[in-house]
Amino acid sequence: MDVTVLGAGTMGHGIAQVSAMGGHDVTIRDIEQSFVDDGLAAIENNLEGGVARDKLTREEADATLDRIDGSVDLAEAVTGADLVIEAIPEQMDLKVDTVETVEENVSTDAIIASNTSSLSVTEIASAADRPERVIGLHFFNPVHIMALVEIVVAEQTGDETVAFAHEFVEGIEKVPVEVIDTPGFASSRLGVALGVEAIRMVEEGVASPRDIDTAMELGYNHPMGPLELTDVVGLDVRLEILEYLREELGERFKPPQELKRKVRAGNLGKKSGEGFYVWEDGEIVDEEGGR
Ligand code: NAD
Repeated sequence: MDVTVLGAGTMGHGIAQVSAMGGHDVTIRDIEQSFVDDGLAAIENNLEGGVARDKLTREEADATLDRIDGSVDLAEAVTGADLVIEAIPEQMDLKVDTVETVEENVSTDAIIASNTSSLSVTEIASAADRPERVIGLHFFNPVHIMALVEIVVAEQTGDETVAFAHEFVEGIEKVPVEVIDTPGFASSRLGVALGVEAIRMVEEGVASPRDIDTAMELGYNHPMGPLELTDVVGLDVRLEILEYLREELGERFKPPQELKRKVRAGNLGKKSGEGFYVWEDGEIVDEEGGR
C-alpha cells in the first residue's frame, strides 16, 4: 500500500518508519527539505539502533529505508496514496487547510487520518468532501517503541474506514483501541485523571511524590508513577490539557493550584530541571525536592 505521512517531526518520522517496517511504500512530506532530511536521518538512526540491539537485521533496516521517499511538494506527495496520515502541528486551521488540499489530490477512495492528540477529529473531518473517509490514528511517542494506536472514530467516519484502520494498525504490528471522538480520547483522559488526583494528594499532604508514585508502580504495576510521568510529559503540557478537558468535560479536571504554582514558577518538570522531583541530565537527583 502507498502511505503518505505529512510532517517529518517527532511523530511523523516515527509513523513513516513503522509504516515502512510494515512493508508499505512511504512518502514523508514536510514544508522544507531540511525538515524532511532531519526526519529521514532520525529514521536511519532508529533503525541503526535496532540493528545494534538485534531487534532487526541489517537487510530489514536497509529495505525499510529503501521504501521511504521524502518530498516537500504536498500535491505530489499524496498523489496515488491509499492512506494519508497527517502529523503536522496541533492547529485546527492548519489541519483543515491540509485536509482540503489533500482531498483535491488523492483518489476518492483514499483514507485521510489525523494523528491529533487533542483536537476534534469530527471538526477536521467536516473540512472534507468525503468525511466518511476521515479518521483519527493517534500514535504514541516514541512511535517505533510504543505499541498503542488509538483509532478515533469521528461522527462522520464510515464503517469501512474503521475496518481499514484496524487492519492497517494491526498490519504494522501495533495494538489498536477504538474510541469515539471525545476530548482526551481514552488515553489522555484517564492518564490525566490519575495525574491530577496524584497532584491533589501532594497538595493535601497525603504522601510524598515518591511514595505516591511507588504506590502505583508496585501496587498497580505501572512502569512509572503519575507524578514522575507528569514531570516527564511537562507540567505546562499537562496544565494545558487539563484546562481543555475542564472546559469540555467539567470541574473534575480543574487544575490544582499546586500545578499552576509550579508552572508559573517555571518548574515544568524534567525539561526545566524541576517539577515534582529535581532532575539533572534526564535523571531524578532529588526525590524530596521540587516542593
Ligand atoms: P513536530 O513539531 O515535531 O512536527 C511537526 C512537523 O510538521 C514539523 O516538522 C513541521 O515543519 C511540519 N509541518 C508544518 N506544517 C506542515 C504542513 N503543512 N505539511 C507538512 N508538514 C508540516 O510535532 P509532533 O510532536 O510530531 O506533533 C505532530 C502531531 O502529532 C500533532 O497533531 C500532535 O498533537 C500529535 N501528537 C504528538 C505527540 C507527541 O508526543 N509529540 C503524541 C501524539 C500525537
